[in-house]
Amino acid sequence: MNIPTANYLNKRVLKLNVGFLLSAGPSNHKIMALNITDPVKIADDLVVKSINGTLRLSRNKEGILVQASDLVFVVDRECSRCLNTFEHPISITIEELFASPHPIDESEFFVGQDGQLDLAPLLRAEALIQLAHREYCRVDCQGLCVYCGTNLNDTTCDCADNQIDPRMAKLKELLDAGK
Ligand SMILES: [Zn+2]
Ligand SMILES: [Zn+2]
Repeated sequence: MNIPTANYLNKRVLKLNVGFLLSAGPSNHKIMALNITDPVKIADDLVVKSINGTLRLSRNKEGILVQASDLVFVVDRECSRCLNTFEHPISITIEELFASPHPIDESEFFVGQDGQLDLAPLLRAEALIQLAHREYCRVDCQGLCVYCGTNLNDTTCDCADNQIDPRMAKLKELLDAGK
């Protein structure tokens, strides 16, 4: 990811003011669109290029339940095969209680004294789960030539014809002997 730091939105954009909902009391809810089209640095190890979806914030006795089933983050990723950077949309589902008042037992998520709820740590945790596995720029990515490093999606090389994998040499011997 090589977007200049100055061009990131501060992760404060992921702080939601829910004071009004806390005051409204249990069984009230609010639907909130989350449409961020600029890159946001959610954490030191995570920049997303856009975030789109809808949050449902429900006030209950314990605090604010945050739910979303259609959040889509677009992140820049490196293809595990050809190493090209590509834009990868990932779908995030969240359902988490942000406790209020802040409980003694130090729940991981809670509404701050200022009536603000910070989505960044939750979104980071969910995104990193999605990003943990290998991803390819496209299903039929040809990857790099193991001999010369050519990106085989863009062009071809003769290496595969001219060289033989040592592990395959024995097989070739057998095949040649059978000719
Ligand atoms: Zn690729
Ligand atoms: Zn090659």
